Amino acid sequence: MFYNRGDSKKKAREVVKNLYFFPENGILDCNIFCLVDNASKEINLFDIGNATSLNGLFEGFQDLNLNYENIKKIFITHEHVDHVLGLYPLVEKMKDDPPEIFAYDETARILRKGDVNQIFPGNLGITPEMFGVKITPLNITDLTDKKEIRSSGFTFQIYHTPGHSLGSISYYEPEKKILIPGDVVFTQGSFGRYDFPGGSLKQLQNSIKFISRLDVIYLLPGHMDISDNGNQEIKYSCNMIQMFGGT
Ligand SMILES: [Zn+2]
Repeated sequence: MFYNRGDSKKKAREVVKNLYFFPENGILDCNIFCLVDNASKEINLFDIGNATSLNGLFEGFQDLNLNYENIKKIFITHEHVDHVLGLYPLVEKMKDDPPEIFAYDETARILRKGDVNQIFPGNLGITPEMFGVKITPLNITDLTDKKEIRSSGFTFQIYHTPGHSLGSISYYEPEKKILIPGDVVFTQGSFGRYDFPGGSLKQLQNSIKFISRLDVIYLLPGHMDISDNGNQEIKYSCNMIQMFGGT
């Protein structure tokens, strides 16, 4: 069985100037956020989705007059299948000039090693083959000692926000008040699962509490819709998760 139902074209939505949102395509895919440099047409991405949605992303690029060959950097929020699987066909496609891939600590370690059990966590009943992908070791730039990343006029601070997985990070742009938290916190009172390997309810509660102290307008999570009412959305999720006990 192949997960090819998610290969339709992804339509970009502009969040702020030079930052685009490509929504997830059905199950086991993720939202992708794209920074574009006006002059050079360089593309930098946050997460890459699952491998079967990659062509849909490239088709979406065409609407913006962008070419995937200009992808220079990919910032990964965490190691799970729905966020990273697109890396494998992309690196293969771009093997002469591959993009630089960034991840934090444990996530970097897992991707460097090609640790299938961590990339496909728990008992999801899926395998790389179902996506037509072979997991191989990747070259990863470790973000652990970096405080921030700069791209296309944006400066994102890097915060370690474990709980969904050990190496989960959130990218925060204080000037434009943008938060890209991966699967830590979602809109509508939702938050990430904490039952996968490396997950922890207590850590997730602490991470969301930390995030709730940031000033956020644009909440750009890994799944579901995005919001321009970030502070309220995060407060809602923060209240919901504190009710789960375990403090
Ligand atoms: Zn995840």
